[in-house]
Amino acid sequence: MQYTEIMVRYGELSTKGKNRNDFIGRLNGNVTKALHEYTNLRIHPKRDRMHIVLNGDDADGVIERLRHVFGIQNFSPSIQVERDMDAVKATALAMMQEISQPGMSFKVNTRRSDHKFFLDTNEMNRELGGYLSDELPELEVQMKKPDITFRVEVRQDAIYLTSQVIQGAGGLPVGTAGKGMLMLSGGIDSPVAGYLALKRGVDIEMVHFFSPPYTSDNALNKAKELSAKLVPYVGSIKFIEVPFTEIQEEIKHSVPEGYLMTIQRRMMLRLTDRVREMRNGLAIFNGESVGQVASQTLESMLAINDVSTTPIIRPVATMDKNEIIAVAKDIDTYELSIMPFEDCCTIFAPPAPKTRPRLDKTRFYEKNIDVEALLERSLAGIKVTEIKAGDQFLNQDEEIISELL
Ligand code: ATP
Ligand code: MG
Repeated sequence: MQYTEIMVRYGELSTKGKNRNDFIGRLNGNVTKALHEYTNLRIHPKRDRMHIVLNGDDADGVIERLRHVFGIQNFSPSIQVERDMDAVKATALAMMQEISQPGMSFKVNTRRSDHKFFLDTNEMNRELGGYLSDELPELEVQMKKPDITFRVEVRQDAIYLTSQVIQGAGGLPVGTAGKGMLMLSGGIDSPVAGYLALKRGVDIEMVHFFSPPYTSDNALNKAKELSAKLVPYVGSIKFIEVPFTEIQEEIKHSVPEGYLMTIQRRMMLRLTDRVREMRNGLAIFNGESVGQVASQTLESMLAINDVSTTPIIRPVATMDKNEIIAVAKDIDTYELSIMPFEDCCTIFAPPAPKTRPRLDKTRFYEKNIDVEALLERSLAGIKVTEIKAGDQFLNQDEEIISELL
């Protein structure tokens, strides 16, 4: 069908009273960014809905983009027709023929913002409903929970017809909650944590630790590629690479094996917190899940969290691995995450890390390294890039993958 407009219904935002303007403004900005390739369409953000007038732009492409924009509850592609019953009937019939199947039930539901139109809502429902059921006898009219609700909106300028409601991504418009740093590894959990943070309106920047030559370019590119998977939800993402080689070598050299991992994580957290401060972030997000591995017991979290009072939000903290994997598959990060490039944690992982590190011992052993000097040298080497739609970092050819396995 040649849709002329997409009507967008807001999510949670419409209940937020005085924040409403901020929400709608952000959503407008995010939708504009998501649709920047479409140059004909016009976006009209209203108080209760947003109207995207297509002006000939491709509805299917626009629909695909809108599915990724947080803050949208659902949306309906619609067709504008003249305020003339013959035009309404002809277009409605064509739309119903396209989406209905024999045996389905339907009803017509009319709203009027123009009360001068010669039919009121009941009359329109009856008139158009009667016409459609005469023309399409294989369909059944049903008032309660029909398969198709055919919507008619009578406005001053024209009549708008809609046959579908497409589920949006829900959540809050990205940016309404401020900015946070996501500690992004190459694993399954942290990209999911990032997705969930974005969904609550947090604009995230990726912080990734890498340790050349112990970790390969592929490991770094994998993290960038994972970030690229989240780009459709925001438009672009800043990727901050933080060199971690010297810190890991120094810790390996100076700290008892059982505390390697705990102290490495403390250094990661300190660095993330410094980066957050430099970049005006408000919180840190990571992919930790309670009890998943040695570094994610509550004792470990206590010993690691000791270095910062910044809010640390763990969106997947209470999810089972299977639940996390289901989201990863949904957002298409899973296949990438399981590609076998070693990241900096696996390489320096001791064979038997303490699952219940003691805070006093952690602090004591950490005195063996010069924390401040190491932090400064690492921060001097950070590199910030921006990842945009369509960027590619990893050649995912089968040959290359099989070479690695
Ligand atoms: P993930 O899928 O997130 O890698 P995991 O079970 O492998 O999960 P760990 O490697 O124990 O988790 O790491 C826990 C969290 O620490 C990660 O989710 C991530 O937030 C952070 N993290 C680990 N390694 C890195 C890294 N190289 N760069 C940035 N953050 C990291
Ligand atoms: Mg990991």
